[in-house]
Amino acid sequence: MKEEKLFCLLGNPVSHSLSPLMHRTAFKAMDLKACYHAFLIHDIAGALKGIRSLSIGGASVTIPFKEAIIPYLDWIDDDAKCIGAVNTVLNRDGSLLGFNTDARGFLNALAGVANVAKKKVIVLGAGGAARAVVYALMQQGADVTVTNRTGERGERLAREFSASFLSWEEREAAEAQILVNTTPIGMYPRTEESPVDDKSMKRFELVVDIVYNPWETKLLKAAKKKGVKTIHGAEMFVQQGAEQIRIWTGLEPPVEVMRKAVKEALKNEA
Ligand code: NAP
Repeated sequence: MKEEKLFCLLGNPVSHSLSPLMHRTAFKAMDLKACYHAFLIHDIAGALKGIRSLSIGGASVTIPFKEAIIPYLDWIDDDAKCIGAVNTVLNRDGSLLGFNTDARGFLNALAGVANVAKKKVIVLGAGGAARAVVYALMQQGADVTVTNRTGERGERLAREFSASFLSWEEREAAEAQILVNTTPIGMYPRTEESPVDDKSMKRFELVVDIVYNPWETKLLKAAKKKGVKTIHGAEMFVQQGAEQIRIWTGLEPPVEVMRKAVKEALKNEA
């Protein structure tokens, strides 16, 4: 990069996001002439006009704009199309391209820990993040069951991705080797909550919680206690951010440096 490039976060709220810390740390370690700012957005269409006219290199997109942004983009990739949400924008000479790095981030977080092909996986939740997780798991050939507090929403998601559905009340009895929590249960400040009873933990081989604040949720602590393998939400967060850097720069991001920065920030917050 000849001139300094600006990358940004588009969301509302953005004040607690760890994306600026993670991306600035990465850019510095990569010795890139690039900076990253969080913008509190009220008007997503206006924000995208700004990205074009200010020649901003790209953006991360967070709540509540991941779906709302789609009609204003020039192109979106197949993952984002199937998931129905965009969390990354690349400005290529004024054309705004949309991607979703949550699915790839989730799979990269699993890499080396578990092979999910043919494994029975229960996914808790049916919101935006669940869509990316279920999509990723189905692509890997997992046998996925979705459960959700609002049954209708869960059933719709399961149907769309050819997964099975189980009512929220039956989740403790689900026959599965892997559990993935995509609900915000256990997220700061309600860190004493868990989406499943601690006692039901020992039947799993692996428990994944995509909640990343706190660093270790009550769910993950209970799983660890029973000797079950765990994957932290922060790992998916770092991996989806690393994928954003690949899209924006074409370069390999310093994942270990990013992981360390995020982990330290979360541990300091605790
Ligand atoms: P969302 O679209 O609002 O969906 C939330 C889901 O959780 C819905 O299925 C909702 O059920 C369920 N839910 C919420 N509160 C619940 C409760 N008290 N009891 C039972 N179910 C409850 O949110 P999202 O964007 O998917 O995000 C979900 C979580 O994932 C957040 O904590 C977010 O920070 C985290 N996340 C992490 C990463 C990462 O990289 N690690 C990436 C994306 C998101 P209903 O349908 O019944 O409302």
